[in-house]
Amino acid sequence: GSTIGILGGGQLGRMMAMAAMQLGYRCIAYAPPGDNVAADACADIFEKGWGDRVALAAFAAKCDVVTWEFENVPLSAVAAISGNLLACPPRALEVAQDRLNEKGFIAQLGGTSAPYTRVESDEDFVRALNAVGTPGILKTARDGYDGKGQWRIASDREASGVRFPGKPCIYEGLVAFEAEFSVILVRSREGEVRFWDSTANRHEGGMLAQSVLPAGALIEAQVPQARELAAKTAQALGYVGVLTLEFFATKGGPVFNEMAPRVHNSGHWTIEGAATSQFENHIRAICGLPLGGTATRFASIDMRNIVGEDALSAHTILAEAGEPHLHLYGKREAREGRKMGHVTRVGHSLK
Ligand code: ATP
Ligand code: MG
Ligand code: MG
Repeated sequence: GSTIGILGGGQLGRMMAMAAMQLGYRCIAYAPPGDNVAADACADIFEKGWGDRVALAAFAAKCDVVTWEFENVPLSAVAAISGNLLACPPRALEVAQDRLNEKGFIAQLGGTSAPYTRVESDEDFVRALNAVGTPGILKTARDGYDGKGQWRIASDREASGVRFPGKPCIYEGLVAFEAEFSVILVRSREGEVRFWDSTANRHEGGMLAQSVLPAGALIEAQVPQARELAAKTAQALGYVGVLTLEFFATKGGPVFNEMAPRVHNSGHWTIEGAATSQFENHIRAICGLPLGGTATRFASIDMRNIVGEDALSAHTILAEAGEPHLHLYGKREAREGRKMGHVTRVGHSLK
């Protein structure tokens, strides 16, 4: 097919559409009205609600294949699109949309998560605090991203200051990690799996701030086990495209945090830094093309997000030595805690 439908309108869809365009595809986005920056790289956008089945059908009628750039697309919206247009089984969304489902699924495959319990009432919350203890994090089971919908509880004394927010939650013990990393893989329709190198990821306030290579000895030692779990996950879901699993590197081995059934912020460095970017390989996979190489091309990588109102510093960034690669997402409004762009710096090239 030659027209790719993208569910979601954010920067991940924008970068996906830019890669698709290079390969000769046109993209059409579908997202609720808003600052849908994916539209800039798409031939058309349906700015309609997720509940608008008529609009979803009209969108699907124009597409040869449909993918998503956002894991919280309602399953009812995905169900309105005929199964043979979907690049990847919607089961991947179903599992990843709920932190409890996700952790249960990973446990079945032999993965380890932080200790956790379900919290659906004030009484559950008290029980969870007793069972798991503090420090910990209360997270909404659904719809969270960039650390939103999370409450950190450092000590028993602090617990009284946090209320059950009235929607299903999970309470997790705080993992004393040494570092964080993600496994990003691409899986073809035929089941071929390729991995990019795992960066060390640093978060600020629950949001990714920086991804670097080399990731360090501890992460490197834990990547093989984490990859095995990620590959099993992709296989079990019949996954097609780019899939990400986030991990904590602890003294006792890799601890699964969460999965993202999509391209991932910690893989933005692959645009300049890898033989084939996560965006291009996602497009290749969903369109049935041969996958590209995933090898890292440089001795070091440093990707930093531009968050909030730093966007004005573009001139400053580009004037710096070392050929920084600047990416701005074209968002109309710079709000606090909003990802506006990123900068990738690479070291000397590998032969
Ligand atoms: P994303 O934008 O990655 O989807 P999110 O809102 O789903 O983020 P999480 O990945 O659950 O949030 O948490 C964000 C960050 O908070 C983690 O990367 C980690 O730094 C920290 N964090 C979350 N859960 C735990 C935990 N149980 N123990 C220690 N740190 C944690
Ligand atoms: Mg998440
Ligand atoms: Mg996360």
